[in-house]
Amino acid sequence: VKKKGSKYEKQSAPVNKTAVLGAGIMGGGIAYQSAYKGTPILMKDIREDALQLGLKEARKLLAKQVERGKLTTGKMAEALSNIRPTLSYGDFGEVDLIVEAVVENPKVKGAVLTEVEGAVGENTILTSNTSTISINRLAQNLKRPENFCGMHFFNPVHRMPLVEVIRGEKSSDAAIAATVAYARKMGKTPIVVNDCPGFLVNRVLFPYFGGFSFLVEQGADFERVDKVMEKFGWPMGPAYLLDVVGMDTAVHAQAVMAEGFPARMAREGKSAIDAMYEDERLGQKNGKGFYRYE
Ligand code: NAD
Repeated sequence: VKKKGSKYEKQSAPVNKTAVLGAGIMGGGIAYQSAYKGTPILMKDIREDALQLGLKEARKLLAKQVERGKLTTGKMAEALSNIRPTLSYGDFGEVDLIVEAVVENPKVKGAVLTEVEGAVGENTILTSNTSTISINRLAQNLKRPENFCGMHFFNPVHRMPLVEVIRGEKSSDAAIAATVAYARKMGKTPIVVNDCPGFLVNRVLFPYFGGFSFLVEQGADFERVDKVMEKFGWPMGPAYLLDVVGMDTAVHAQAVMAEGFPARMAREGKSAIDAMYEDERLGQKNGKGFYRYE
């Protein structure tokens, strides 16, 4: 863990204007956290309804801070005005740092990163919030891979302190420094990790999801497994956590892990998680997963 005032922060160029690509679960959360902590952020999506959902979530979280007495209504309005929703790259020329948070698909991410690289200045730092895709792989088609690294937040962004900052082979110290500094500015605890599929946390988490899936396939009751893991001391069980993450994201991320570590992570046949995904039980994002949500 890099403490405040570490070599990374001392080297960092200022990060005053930022942008997030994707206004989904993670993009919306990142926009809220940045705005709440005072750094203006452009929030870009390809769908107007996604932008509206992202804004609605940010508004809800800010209103909770007012309820708790942590924010005045004036400060809430100020924080909200820090988020600028957009469908275009029009204002990206001025941005210091970008977090890409679109769907967990290497092809889509590759295309989006190339696209945004063409819309920003030479010194803009580009980061990806990918859960599992190697940073070296995502850097392959970039013109300035030195300006690129991973910035992996956890869900829900406003509650989870950790951010993995992933150093690719070509990431510069300046890119790492700016990303660490931005994470700190957002009130988070950054750790700098080396690159591989799944980085650190998801190399631990995905085998755990796999173990849970086998249990369910062998007839275990998911609700009872959740209760046991809560008694074990975890804040929530694996079924509930999968509902929070989203079955689509979990399935795509699992495929990346299986490709990266075939001997340990690939498996025969369809998993219980695949079956949920095929049944469009995506979790909290569409109101039905292992559990039902209103
Ligand atoms: P999501 O499905 O909730 O949101 C994805 C958003 O990206 C959607 O709003 C979609 O419209 C938008 N999008 C798609 N193509 C786009 C494009 N070309 N330009 C701009 N926006 C585009 O997904 P999510 O759960 O927020 O995940 C986003 C990323 O964050 C993924 O890489 C995922 O692996 C990672 N992540 C997810 C979690 C989690 O728990 N869900 C945790 C950490 C990291």
